[in-house]
Amino acid sequence: MCAGCGNRFAKAALVRFTVVETAAGRELILDVASGSPGRGAYVCPRLECLDKALDRKFLQRRLKAAGDSRQLKEEFVRLIEERLH
Ligand SMILES: [Zn+2]
Repeated sequence: MCAGCGNRFAKAALVRFTVVETAAGRELILDVASGSPGRGAYVCPRLECLDKALDRKFLQRRLKAAGDSRQLKEEFVRLIEERLH
């Protein structure tokens, strides 16, 4: 299920986010290979859904982590473009 629009999609169509533990605490990251262990949250490949999920802190709350929204959005756009090719 997409954390932005709430619609259901096949897992392969979604972009996965997960968490890494860093010295600064729990950090939200884009799970590029979609295979990292541990908790994950999903967003469908629309930037507006990621915007909503990050701006309303849906992803941060679901994964109990902080994230750099600007950087995550850049990585998300890059990943989607790569998948299209
Ligand atoms: Zn969505």
